[in-house]
Amino acid sequence: MEFRIGQGYDVHQLAPGLPMWLAGVAVPSEFGFVAHSDGDVAIHALCDALLGALALGDIGKLFPDTSDEWKDADSKELLRIVMEKVRAKGWEVSNVDITIALQAPKIGKLVPRMRDVLASVMDIEKEQVSVKATTTERLGFVGRGEGCEVWAVALLHK
Ligand code: MG
Repeated sequence: MEFRIGQGYDVHQLAPGLPMWLAGVAVPSEFGFVAHSDGDVAIHALCDALLGALALGDIGKLFPDTSDEWKDADSKELLRIVMEKVRAKGWEVSNVDITIALQAPKIGKLVPRMRDVLASVMDIEKEQVSVKATTTERLGFVGRGEGCEVWAVALLHK
């Protein structure tokens, strides 16, 4: 069996009065993400991990934020397209692991739903999808509530 590993990283700025989408789930919050798409920073990091595993570039190249086609795009759709590219090359996902750093709101209770949604979009099992949430103990831009930072790792096999 052959394996590939990829990592992804993304940051989005927070601003009041915008929707907050994280890992495919609408998070109740007075703040949301400034973005060209729906701003789902967790899905963006995950897409980059999957693309990185196969050296297929990154989502900025695939879905340019200068293009009207991806304006307010549902990031779940972007993930579906990335998964099509992965499978078209004969690869399957072994597992993915995502760490979301966000000071507020607390999102721990939403993690099971995030895993369900991502597994369903990627057509894999929930057990293959890990989502972890942390604060940064009020340190840095995340701790000041200015943004959200996400790291993702994906392992692929064929
Ligand atoms: Mg992004």
